[in-house]
Amino acid sequence: MDAHIKKRMKEIGGQAILFDVPMSQYTTFRVGGNVEALYKAKNLEALKEMICFLMDEGISYLITGCGSNLLVRDGGLKGVAIILDGSFALIEHTTMAEPCIVAGAGLPLHKLVDFCTERGLAGVEFLAGIPGTVGGGVAMNAGSWGQEIKGVIGEITTLTGRGIAEKRDSLSLNFKYRGLDLNKGQIILNARLNLRFDKPALIRKKIISNIQRRKERFPFDMPSAGSIFKNPEGDYAGRLIDAVGLKGKTIGGAMISSKHANFIVNKGKASTSDILALMDLVIVKVREMFDIQLSTEIKVVGEG
Ligand SMILES: Cc1cc2nc3c(=O)[nH]c(=O)nc-3n(C[C@H](O)[C@H](O)[C@H](O)COP(=O)(O)OP(=O)(O)OC[C@H]3O[C@@H](n4cnc5c(N)ncnc54)[C@H](O)[C@@H]3O)c2cc1C
Repeated sequence: MDAHIKKRMKEIGGQAILFDVPMSQYTTFRVGGNVEALYKAKNLEALKEMICFLMDEGISYLITGCGSNLLVRDGGLKGVAIILDGSFALIEHTTMAEPCIVAGAGLPLHKLVDFCTERGLAGVEFLAGIPGTVGGGVAMNAGSWGQEIKGVIGEITTLTGRGIAEKRDSLSLNFKYRGLDLNKGQIILNARLNLRFDKPALIRKKIISNIQRRKERFPFDMPSAGSIFKNPEGDYAGRLIDAVGLKGKTIGGAMISSKHANFIVNKGKASTSDILALMDLVIVKVREMFDIQLSTEIKVVGEG
């Protein structure tokens, strides 16, 4: 990224633009090299201007939520990591016949869950305890306990790489298991969620139970990015990894969790290479023993 580009980005982004930032600070795995620039977009006008500039200059960007499903390679990330902040992290309770809310893409999922609970709006209890933002949740079709975010989405607003905001209703969205088809450069700005009324006490009870079950199953005491692999049809990646005897296997500072085999945890000083080496080992062993090709759920980005 040359000096002219940096100068122009600073003119557009001001204090909200930083250069050469460790992605380990912006991912829950706490690993990864530096990104060339990091931009915390506060409002739509500024975001549009930045996106149009980046597109014109052929500079790539990656929307980064909580980084809870991201693994950035040790060589860092070219281009710009964009975090949706400020007005993108707001939530609105709209008054329609059916209860519904519009949540900004930068809003953390736990705030969404709290907001809904306080107002007796049911439907997102399954998201309790999933780290991440609304945008990341929609992009990844986050889910648990047999439910997925696609089940409550009425409409999303996106920004194209040309800086045009568009509304897309749920019928036009192609959600899949842990993903949503988006065009290159497309940014989710907000989502309208269709909910239902229920007693706050009952909603809270469900949430407490969901969080309790998560604590029992998943290793929340060490940095991770959640489930590394997608569950293959009719089976569980965790069961397969356990069956090939890799629970507790360590490479460098990374370890296959002894609590849940589909989690890799950072014991403190892991590098992305350690994590990738463990992932390769899992893929090979599961293929050898079960003839099943595991595919990754997490997004691996950056330079090797
Ligand atoms: C301990 C732990 C437990 C987890 N448990 C679960 C679970 O039970 N179920 C589950 O589904 N997931 C789980 N996850 C994974 C993760 O929390 C979810 O996938 C979450 O939805 C990711 O949100 P994020 O904001 O962190 O996205 P990020 O990790 O920052 O990004 C993920 C992807 O989404 C894209 N993206 C993010 N925001 C936008 C946007 N506004 N517009 C367009 N693209 C965007 C990014 O570019 C990237 O490709 C877990 C993770 C951890 C660490």
